Amino acid sequence: MAVYPNDHIQKAAAFFTKEIDRLSKRPVRLMEVCGTHTVAIFKAGIRNLLPEQVELVSGPGCPVCVTPSSYLDTAIAYSRQKGVIITTFGDMLRVPGAKSTLSEQRAAGADIRIVYSPLECIDIAKNNPMKKVVFLAVGFETTAPVAAATIIAAENASVKNFFVLSAHKRVPPALKMLLANGDVNVDGFLLPGHVCAITGESPYHFLAEQYHIPAVVTGFSAIDILQAIYTLVKQIETGEALVGNQYKQVVKPEGNPHASRILDQVYGKADAVWRGLGKIANSGLELRSNYTSFDITNDMPIDVPNQPEHSACRCGEVLRGKITPRECLLFGKTCTPEQPVGACMVSVEGTCAAWHRYGTWRWQG
Ligand code: SF4
Ligand code: SF4
Repeated sequence: MAVYPNDHIQKAAAFFTKEIDRLSKRPVRLMEVCGTHTVAIFKAGIRNLLPEQVELVSGPGCPVCVTPSSYLDTAIAYSRQKGVIITTFGDMLRVPGAKSTLSEQRAAGADIRIVYSPLECIDIAKNNPMKKVVFLAVGFETTAPVAAATIIAAENASVKNFFVLSAHKRVPPALKMLLANGDVNVDGFLLPGHVCAITGESPYHFLAEQYHIPAVVTGFSAIDILQAIYTLVKQIETGEALVGNQYKQVVKPEGNPHASRILDQVYGKADAVWRGLGKIANSGLELRSNYTSFDITNDMPIDVPNQPEHSACRCGEVLRGKITPRECLLFGKTCTPEQPVGACMVSVEGTCAAWHRYGTWRWQG
């Protein structure tokens, strides 16, 4: 039994663990879609608490992991252009492109700056009027509204030298594609709490309606996750399939209408390429026609040759929940958080990084 800090939490954890054990009669695979859930599951030792037949697999829920290496190659190509400042969240620096990383480019002299919010880019652009400031806009429905708000703010302030290189993604089409292809064998989903705070839970109703697979929007504490697993196991054992919300304090049925409105004003749906998953219809966001002047690929088109990703990296299968990181031959050997070969080893939310950091009880010895 894992040790949780207070008595009340211990009792709740013990209750849900016991109930899962009691209810669970057959092997089930549950996918935690969100990278933060993967980390929370490891931190709380949840895998140790579950009966053998309840297996947790990680899904395509880390924004860094799903950004394809071709996007990094394009970002690197822009970082080499004269008069360009690249701005990015720190995680992107070490994500491998085909041959290099932004971190290596920065060491070689490229002007690449880490920001904590895209809104910081407006000041950078104002302070560098002769340069083009390009924000690497990656992430899911969670971060995309802030990028959209930044574009609106840049327009309102007549800042003409701020641009985005957009690779925003939408989670539901990726799950739809995985299920439609019969690519994953999953009995239930733990849905991403932060993404659903923006979208609400309704975009996931297809899981129950079309595929008869239960799903629960859940928070990030050990109790939240154990309760969600309990709910899923209970439904699976009774043949039910509902999409529920156990994170009601944060996720409202309608999501966040203000953020959704801003997002919808600036971005429309488009096909997008995911690392390891390929092109997925309607899974991306592209700037609407009123805002294409903020797209660096329009303002400064460049040709970036298509190059294959590292052949032995199995991030694609990890992101589809088909293998655990341990099954990749590079895991913990040539691929480590210090020297990542694939994107899943870079971000703290990445599945391989989480396994490497917290999963030593499984993969050693
Ligand atoms: S952005 Fe939020 S929902 Fe998405 S992976 Fe990170 S924590 Fe999870
Ligand atoms: S261990 Fe490294 S190379 Fe293997 S799948 Fe994970 S990130 Fe890719």
